[in-house]
Amino acid sequence: MSKLEIHQIPVLNDNYLYLFKEPESGLVGIVDPAVAGPVLDKCRELGWTLTHIINTHHHGDHTGANLELKEKTGCTIVGADIDAARIPGIDIRVKEGDIFEFGTEKARVFEVPGHTSGHIAYWFENSDALFCGDTLFALGCGRLFEGTPAQMWASLGKFRNLPDETKVYCAHEYTEANARFAVTVDPKNKALQDRYQEIRKFRAENISTVPSTLGLEKSTNPFLRADDPAVQAEIGLAGSDPVTAFAEIRSRKDNF
Ligand code: ZN
Ligand code: FE
Repeated sequence: MSKLEIHQIPVLNDNYLYLFKEPESGLVGIVDPAVAGPVLDKCRELGWTLTHIINTHHHGDHTGANLELKEKTGCTIVGADIDAARIPGIDIRVKEGDIFEFGTEKARVFEVPGHTSGHIAYWFENSDALFCGDTLFALGCGRLFEGTPAQMWASLGKFRNLPDETKVYCAHEYTEANARFAVTVDPKNKALQDRYQEIRKFRAENISTVPSTLGLEKSTNPFLRADDPAVQAEIGLAGSDPVTAFAEIRSRKDNF
């Protein structure tokens, strides 16, 4: 098996698209194409031919270019079975536990409701790559538009079970704003304070802070730490169940 070659394409205000190739088969995928132009430009620059669109959820800034890219390249669109009605042009429907084969690489599919009811994520274990859309961000998580705190906590729990070296390819550069909030609910976390300083330096120079790693998120992202005693004590919920603490952190962030 050969690992995916992955390129990040920044588009719109703060979206990241991921263009990736499995070298042996030559298959090329794009995760959540908000727009078509930059994807086609990058393919041309690399000499790659787009074969697949991989969608995490239905929002327009993730599926906006599905039909245009399909029309121009004949690519195949992969998306959530349970949300098929909202994924434009969907060809292959995947669900929890499915293994999506991409040349010699394989992605395990996770259903991760919370941000939307039909949100999914793709974990390419051999490439240490998690394409998680708007479920997990660097130091943050997606807003709960169509799900409950309990659902989102369970969804994030699926990611917490993955290896620390897994790279978190999330769909937005929200890291600095997330960091500003994170230090308010986990102020004594030295790893978080260090990360915050580094993020400020990176962003001052307009450098991407994504991908991060799951190991870093587990130790610094408050949304993965709702069961941590220090975080719970800080928000006045010592000894509470994780879902209650998670809901409190999420609602504080919504109003931050
Ligand atoms: Zn979204
Ligand atoms: Fe988004």
